[in-house]
Amino acid sequence: MTTTRFAPSPTGYIHVGNLRTALMNYLIARKAGGTFILRIDDTDPERSKEEYVDAIKQDMEWLGLHWDRIERQSDRLDRYAEAADKLREMGRFYEAFESPTELDLKRKKQLNMGRPPVYDRAALNLSDAEKEALRAERGNGVWRFKLNHERIEWNDGILGDISIDAASVSDPVLIRGDGQVLYTIASVVDDTEMGVTNVVRGSDHVTNTATQIQIIDALGGTCPHFAHHSLLTGPQGEALSKRLGTLALRDLREQGVQPMALLSLMARLGSSDPVELRAEMSELIEGFDINRFGAAPTKFDVQDLFPLTAKHLQSLPLTEVADAVAEAGVPADLAEPFWIMARENITTLSDLKGWWELCRDGAEPLIADEDREFIAEAVALLPEGPFDANTWGTWTKAVKETTGRKGKGLFMPLRKALTGMERGPEMATLLPLLQVIRARG
Ligand code: GLU
Repeated sequence: MTTTRFAPSPTGYIHVGNLRTALMNYLIARKAGGTFILRIDDTDPERSKEEYVDAIKQDMEWLGLHWDRIERQSDRLDRYAEAADKLREMGRFYEAFESPTELDLKRKKQLNMGRPPVYDRAALNLSDAEKEALRAERGNGVWRFKLNHERIEWNDGILGDISIDAASVSDPVLIRGDGQVLYTIASVVDDTEMGVTNVVRGSDHVTNTATQIQIIDALGGTCPHFAHHSLLTGPQGEALSKRLGTLALRDLREQGVQPMALLSLMARLGSSDPVELRAEMSELIEGFDINRFGAAPTKFDVQDLFPLTAKHLQSLPLTEVADAVAEAGVPADLAEPFWIMARENITTLSDLKGWWELCRDGAEPLIADEDREFIAEAVALLPEGPFDANTWGTWTKAVKETTGRKGKGLFMPLRKALTGMERGPEMATLLPLLQVIRARG
């Protein structure tokens, strides 16, 4: 059965880059009728925070990315210790004692000599007595996985055939000196034990994948099918990594971005299919195909989310936004006509308040000198209330007959007098909502 997972580290708020990973894994699982796991990668006790775990769950729920199972790596440390023992017994795990400064120096020397900065495996030559002495002097070493120096190959769901020479990669550290288990092994153990069949993640993980394939092999697991999506850049192709902090999902939510706008964009951005606003998650699931995504960096412009949000809001019935309409101050009996009028004229729900204020308080009339008399005449012709959708038509017809004005010369001064603006909602839908006029009518 298809099983995927989204595996964020709870060291910060999740952002649009994370969302891409989460969404792809979610859509694959749902399309196949499989299982989607939310895995919290919290093996780093200093950087992992409970508030971020909660925030991740809230953000996922807001988007409707519901998980079937939640797992926490911090609950599974004994499983990782077991796997480490297994690697030790196999002779694929060794302790190394170089300090970060020493490693840095080694790397610099290698680079100076034009060689790739790969760990030289000096620790493999240490005798037991030397290790004892180093341990006494420096404390426990780190544990490195001994790669087999051969080519590591896989068919990537996005990148195609990949072949990496294991000799060009350092033996990965899987356990730190202080005993902290690192993601590289924890993830392998989880993916294997949880039956993960497909892993989609960012292309910054390609080298990890190469080493993880060997670890999975060593532990006797089955390799999932890997796909590495490109990383997001800004609209001009500039690196987004530093700005991702400002593109947290909760900030977008705060700015009024609608989930379906965000999901519709992220499900297609970087693929050969056009971005299309979808009304339902089921349509996104139906229309998703990982093979359509390309390896090139994907340009992301936060501004693209707003027209999509506006378009999405236009399609919604009052029932879906009743809370927001009430929050804007609109009385229940006007909610329906108000929403029909306003939804065509907002970008986000926070714009509702302004339109309600216009309806409730009226606007400072905008009347040109040459229109003063005309407006006075028009006001005198305003029919008796109650107003409905036909009032505007009846009224402007009467004004036209009396004043002889027509077209723009007729409508624009009325619009400006009533709304204080040159552009805005359909006057026929707005007029019955204008409370001042209603009161008068
Ligand atoms: N916790 C890892 C990350 O956030 C997970 C990577 C993976 O999907 O394997 O980068």
